[in-house]
Amino acid sequence: MRPLNANEIRGSFVNCSKGEAQRLSLPKGLADLPWADLDFLGWRDPGAPERGQLVAEHHGRLTGVTLRVPANGPKGAMKTSVCSICLTPHTASGVSLQVAPRVGAAGRRGNTVGAYMCADLACPLYVRGKKTPDLGARYQEALTVEEQVTRALGNLEAFLDKVLDGSGG
Ligand SMILES: [Zn+2]
Repeated sequence: MRPLNANEIRGSFVNCSKGEAQRLSLPKGLADLPWADLDFLGWRDPGAPERGQLVAEHHGRLTGVTLRVPANGPKGAMKTSVCSICLTPHTASGVSLQVAPRVGAAGRRGNTVGAYMCADLACPLYVRGKKTPDLGARYQEALTVEEQVTRALGNLEAFLDKVLDGSGG
């Protein structure tokens, strides 16, 4: 994706108040992020471990969503889990349930959309092999990296569609 500045990022959030968007901690060193390898920008705030943020081009619009990471999310008995966006397998702690309030009236009624995602929201870097999951090297897929990127973006788009579905009330 193209490099974004702080104003663009703060202005992109659709499911929180403007004040909340202004108070968000942005990733450090924005200008130095590996933008060329990022299909979307996702980050966790070390000062607010129960929160995550994700900013993506969605239907031609820069769209940011805030995510809550329930502290006592279901861990289950599984030793590994798979990110629902990029399908990278992790140990159970490498994937977390991330819950986005839906846009508009639905969100104000407490309506949310949840998905299991890479806990650090670094899906694009895992897909490209720029970051190694805690389980070790990512398994080889028959798909090319480009195809995997396309698949991850499709999964993200479906997630964002659900978050935005509340905007009509
Ligand atoms: Zn992922």
